Amino acid sequence: MNGNLQVMKFGGTSVGNAECIRRAAEIVARAAGEGSVVAVVSAMGGVTNRLIEAAQASAVGDIGAAGNLAETLRQQHQGAIEILVGDGDKRAQLAAELKEIIEEVTSLCRGTALLRELTPRTLDAISSAGERLSARLLASALRELGVNAAAIEATELIVTDNHSGRAEPLISETRERATARLAPLLAERSVPVVTGFIGATVDGMLTTLGRGGSDYSATILGAVLDAKEIIIWTDVDGVLTADPRLVPEARTLQEISYNEAAELAYFGAKVLHPKTLRPVSEASIPVWIRNSFLPEQNGTKITATGHPTRRGVKAITAMSNVTLITVGGRGIVGLPGVAAKTFTAAASAQANVLLISQSSSGNDICFIIDSGDAARTVAELRAAFASDLAHKEVEHITVNADIAIVAVVGERMRGTPGIAGRTFSALGRRGINIIAIAQGSSEYNVSLVVEAGEMREVVQALHSEFGLQRRASRFESVESESALASV
Ligand code: ASP
Ligand code: MG
Repeated sequence: MNGNLQVMKFGGTSVGNAECIRRAAEIVARAAGEGSVVAVVSAMGGVTNRLIEAAQASAVGDIGAAGNLAETLRQQHQGAIEILVGDGDKRAQLAAELKEIIEEVTSLCRGTALLRELTPRTLDAISSAGERLSARLLASALRELGVNAAAIEATELIVTDNHSGRAEPLISETRERATARLAPLLAERSVPVVTGFIGATVDGMLTTLGRGGSDYSATILGAVLDAKEIIIWTDVDGVLTADPRLVPEARTLQEISYNEAAELAYFGAKVLHPKTLRPVSEASIPVWIRNSFLPEQNGTKITATGHPTRRGVKAITAMSNVTLITVGGRGIVGLPGVAAKTFTAAASAQANVLLISQSSSGNDICFIIDSGDAARTVAELRAAFASDLAHKEVEHITVNADIAIVAVVGERMRGTPGIAGRTFSALGRRGINIIAIAQGSSEYNVSLVVEAGEMREVVQALHSEFGLQRRASRFESVESESALASV
């Protein structure tokens, strides 16, 4: 629709208080001076959690939860209004709009407390209030800077299926609605400020895209509007070569591929919602991760090719708070359906399976899930295998919560021989025991399971083994082969 369009998404900390909202407005205003901008906002930091907690407290009959919620929301947002909006009338009008949303969500909580029942639809209606409030604040802050801006509810733009809490967009319907609604605004040089996280079914029932879903909102809109680029403004400098709390010399990556970014999102680098890149990768629309607190920094650009380097490895990620579950026993050899039964049990516990590995003899199937899902999963497994355990066909279901996953990530690892070898010998030299290994068939990562207590050392060792503290040279660059080979 507009070859000059930027979609800019601001995360919860980037609109965390009045000062941050003003900074976000300045970023949008600058871009709007040069081209078209659609802004997408998250709720102010912490608000969505508060809404969900109030909904859950109400569901167990806590009548006071609604009132407490209303008071905290009022304080937080009213405080921002007073700082952001100078004119008395405009301030009163904005306050009245926000008050209406707060009253709506408060009565939903009251109703929930009376019925002691929280349906997924009601939870969506409650948890979406934060974005409806913050979009109005950012639009007002933009108008204060002289930019024509309008808060828009994404229920008017993003059409989804009816899976409350984890809705998926219907792209062609969304393209139609979003274009019809936004094109006239953009034509008159107005900035739409859209609520992230939210959508609606074809017949208008509000849905949400899942926690952290505002990133996804931004790329859905960017894709259907044929944006030039999408910028995710957040509170970190971009995607790093490792978690800086584990590796102080970690660097910001200039450019990575969609595949690498997706792999990093999956393995714990929580910069992006895992589904974020789906809508844009086919159309090759670049996505930037940038720091709204340091807008002069470039950030990380995510593209189809992603600045490949000779080194192959781009980043090392680590994930703790995970649990290894092993289903094993000699009887498993040749016993049909054990894997199916195992993962059906994990699925009925709604556990997110992060990694799977099976020993070649078939004696053990092990997999890793979030520790929070472990108790439920083990209960499901014991029930599913009750008779096999009794007949000793399955000898044990064991649980090890004292582990971590470390993943070596990079698109060029495929076709770069020796990366797994270097990984294992770097750890072997340090006497580190590797509990299990998995390589994604995509070859974008090699993942290792190690003891939790050794995670930091493993990440540091691999980060320096692959020279990630130094800036990578471009694969296509004219640098000499030997210089490249030495990195
Ligand atoms: N506010 C929502 C959440 O906290 C969506 C988002 O921030 O992306 O999950
Ligand atoms: Mg977020």
